[in-house]
Amino acid sequence: MSRVYNFSAGPAVLPEEVLKEAAAEMLDYKGTGMSVMEMSHRSKAFEEIITTAEQDIRDLMGIPDNYRVLFLQGGASQQFAMIPMNLMKNRVADYIITGQWAKKAAKEAEKYGKVNRIASSEDKTFSYIPDCSDLPISEDADYVYICENNTIYGTKFKELPNTKGKTLVADVSSCFLSEPVDVTKYGVIYGGVQKNIGPAGVVIVIIREDLITEDVLPGTPTMLTYKTHADAKSLYNTPPAYGIYICGKVFKWLKAQGGLAAMKERNEKKAKVLYDFLDQSRLFKGTVVPKDRSLMNVPFVTGNADLDAKFVKEAKEAGLENLKGHRTVGGMRASIYNAMPYEGVVALVDFMKKFEEENL
Ligand SMILES: *Cc1c(COP(=O)(O)O)cnc(C)c1O
Repeated sequence: MSRVYNFSAGPAVLPEEVLKEAAAEMLDYKGTGMSVMEMSHRSKAFEEIITTAEQDIRDLMGIPDNYRVLFLQGGASQQFAMIPMNLMKNRVADYIITGQWAKKAAKEAEKYGKVNRIASSEDKTFSYIPDCSDLPISEDADYVYICENNTIYGTKFKELPNTKGKTLVADVSSCFLSEPVDVTKYGVIYGGVQKNIGPAGVVIVIIREDLITEDVLPGTPTMLTYKTHADAKSLYNTPPAYGIYICGKVFKWLKAQGGLAAMKERNEKKAKVLYDFLDQSRLFKGTVVPKDRSLMNVPFVTGNADLDAKFVKEAKEAGLENLKGHRTVGGMRASIYNAMPYEGVVALVDFMKKFEEENL
């Protein structure tokens, strides 16, 4: 068996310990004589899996009691509709446009109400985060929406926008559990887990209780109403049971690593190796304004599309996979999520040095 260093943006690398544990429990989960994939979501064993998973993410993020944790399906993209359907009481919302995902979310919300795009970094291909300290927040906005870490462009909000008292909603798909957060600053935090937590198929929504109501837009399906899932403790219908089980194992793994403060330190150390190299390289160049750089997704280019393609191909041959940039950006992108070991980033930088010498 040989594993590569997988720099995919998502679905992405998972901790090897977690995969081994899951493999060991595949045929007989804790004496039940069956796999977690085969058991009832109403069984005692599964109830313990989902309850423990919820408690562990609460511990990791310090989630206060007046927030609910929901394990849902439909990916992050389904939240683009679910958020306005549930939160747009005045049918007005403010969106900060920092990349494709925020753009898509804003476009979807437009089906349900008025969307004000109060800031954008599209003028420079989303290579920075706009100043959000004093934005023209709409008087009657139901919420202010951000994509906190921009997976495609490699930018991250280092400071949350000043929402002037309005509810903040954040898509954290690609920075979920990468560093400590103050949950009380948000109304809704959500993300697809396939970037930094688990297998595709689960989306975790952390939502303040007062935002969970029956007063949703007319026609909102039962399945797209937060209250349905909050009341049923994420077991209204069959949940993505195996995915939740793996997420639970990742939460345990994160606790064993020392929690989110320790992860932040590790992620900073990892990202620094790559950014330091990019800053002095004569061939490769990072595409993001230094102060807004993501710790999770690092896009870079040579400035020559043929050379970029050659790099991606040769890197793959050297066991460094999925370094091709997003199709809308080109170049390269290294996603260095929680489960990417430090050694993986060092191996990437060593390879880049060698490539630079050979191709300059
Ligand atoms: C990947 C991604 C999405 C889309 O996630 P799906 O689960 O495929 O719908 C949305 N937002 C961000 C920030 C992402 O990285």
